[in-house]
Amino acid sequence: MITSTETGDSIWQYDVPLRNYTSFRTGGVAEIFAEPRSISELKKVLQFCKREQKKIFVLGNGSNVLVNDNGVQGVVVYMGGAHFKQIKRNGMFICSGAGTSLSELMRKAATWGLGGLGALVGIPGTVGGAVVMNAGGKYGNVSDSIASVTTMTFNGEIKTHNRKDIDFWYRGCGLQKQIVIEVTFLLKGAEKEKVFGEMDKIFQEKKESQPLATLNAGCIFKNTQGFKAAELIDRANLKGMKVGGAAVSSIHANFIVNAENATSCDILGLIKVIKNTVKKKYNVTLETELQIW
Ligand SMILES: Cc1cc2nc3c(=O)[nH]c(=O)nc-3n(C[C@H](O)[C@H](O)[C@H](O)COP(=O)(O)OP(=O)(O)OC[C@H]3O[C@@H](n4cnc5c(N)ncnc54)[C@H](O)[C@@H]3O)c2cc1C
Repeated sequence: MITSTETGDSIWQYDVPLRNYTSFRTGGVAEIFAEPRSISELKKVLQFCKREQKKIFVLGNGSNVLVNDNGVQGVVVYMGGAHFKQIKRNGMFICSGAGTSLSELMRKAATWGLGGLGALVGIPGTVGGAVVMNAGGKYGNVSDSIASVTTMTFNGEIKTHNRKDIDFWYRGCGLQKQIVIEVTFLLKGAEKEKVFGEMDKIFQEKKESQPLATLNAGCIFKNTQGFKAAELIDRANLKGMKVGGAAVSSIHANFIVNAENATSCDILGLIKVIKNTVKKKYNVTLETELQIW
């Protein structure tokens, strides 16, 4: 067992139900669930994983993760500790811990009269999860406003990467086998009211086009080969299609919702039905944006 240097408490727990940590509210338990509260605790956890050859799963807000019903074997490193939620301003730069929610980041930035994060409105993730997924949409991606990213490699080494040295692509980036711990954003000066106004406008737009009152994980599939996944699924008449308690949203065809106590197996079954149908009808192979554990 690893204990905190600060408090003497255990940093982790066994058999923690991950359904409480994912937006789908499905899935099994984590063999080990670690919540480091500092950089040194994070390092200890990673050293343990290396020594014991444990697989590492990094968890932000769980809004893009589907956990297998049988759970995960290994260590889930949850970035919810207070140290990883700090936000500091330095002129046009904001330095944020990886565990900060995007909504808190945007709220703080707007309060300071800093804009340029509109692309992240309505995305219920953390800063770390957003960087790894290069989260965004039609207003841009998180990578547009990043100045640098600090990570801890799975070997416990801390590295700061300048934006120009990081490969970002559509819903992904090249920061593999490392944990994002801190991100520096370069933002634009703007009137506070204007920034809040723009954020409200984008949020209203999302509210009308997404099933926000349901349990879901955002878009399941990536757009591909010049096709919008939602349009293909809609044209294939799959809106409302169900497997067990999982259903294709009637509001947005690229969302699957946990409608009635769905299991992860139901969601995976529905993903398979959608992929097979779209392949058969349009000869397009859909790839999941959702991270499946
Ligand atoms: C209602 C709704 C709307 C959404 N809208 C959008 C949208 O418009 N655009 C969009 O891109 N996405 C959207 N999403 C998906 C999701 O919110 C984003 O992908 C978000 O960035 C995930 O962040 P998270 O903290 O929840 O990451 P998680 O779901 O916890 O993790 C996602 C991936 O990132 C990795 N990860 C998380 N934190 C770290 C870290 N600190 N270091 C290293 N790896 C890490 C995980 O291992 C996993 O592979 C939406 C989801 C929902 C539920």
